[in-house]
Amino acid sequence: MISFKNVNKYYGDFHVLKDVNIEIEKGEVVVVLGPSGSGKSTMLRCINRLELITDGQLNVNGFALHDKKVNINKMRRDIGMVFQHFNLYPHKKIIENITLAPKKVLKKSDQEAKQTAMQYLEKVGIPEKAESYPSQLSGGQQQRVAIARGLAMKPQVMLFDEPTSALDPEMIGEVLEVMKTLAKEGMTMVVVTHEMGFAKEVADRIIFMDEGRVVEEATPAEFFSNPREERSRNFLSRLL
Ligand code: ADP
Ligand code: MG
Repeated sequence: MISFKNVNKYYGDFHVLKDVNIEIEKGEVVVVLGPSGSGKSTMLRCINRLELITDGQLNVNGFALHDKKVNINKMRRDIGMVFQHFNLYPHKKIIENITLAPKKVLKKSDQEAKQTAMQYLEKVGIPEKAESYPSQLSGGQQQRVAIARGLAMKPQVMLFDEPTSALDPEMIGEVLEVMKTLAKEGMTMVVVTHEMGFAKEVADRIIFMDEGRVVEEATPAEFFSNPREERSRNFLSRLL
């Protein structure tokens, strides 16, 4: 589903991704860990072409993203992304936030888009908020709307960039629960997070990054009990 082959990326002179090789299968849940500034967000943003790689090959869901002629709008339809700061449209109702892309991009009728939106609002547990505005919801509820919005496009892959980092502690659990349900249902997910409990319980695989490199790949059981690399051990010891 996602394949990085010898991928490098520069921001000007700054070498942010260094010879990255990653393969992610359909239905896999991969959690990306690493210190701040290690390139996790950049790696994730390359997957939906919010960032363009400098060299190497990156294939996502059948699209060659290193090819400058790739149809970006078409490829992005199948990739949902959830950000730290929700990024909902503040002046649109919750239901409109969710129906916008299906109507505009997938040409769904208003009725069909609303039906689908309600289905996903049920799934994330807040159908009663359909007619509210984002500012009337808690952070945890807004993030669940952002997930419902992503799902309404029926994506092949969901990307999460620190989805709980901006939330008050008491709201983190409700968002992780929704993500866990998605994982169980077989969604292909790439999740950047500092929630080690989620990583241990839900990830099929951990990718640990440091200074733009993939330093270690392992199952959660291996990574947390017996990390192979010095840098992984340092990272884990600082969390305790
Ligand atoms: P992480 O998500 O692991 O914290 P990022 O991918 O956000 O790391 O950033 C990796 C490095 O790239 C950091 O040193 C950051 O300052 C730098 N960086 C990120 N975005 C840009 C940009 N648009 N232009 C220049 N440097 C950037
Ligand atoms: Mg980041």
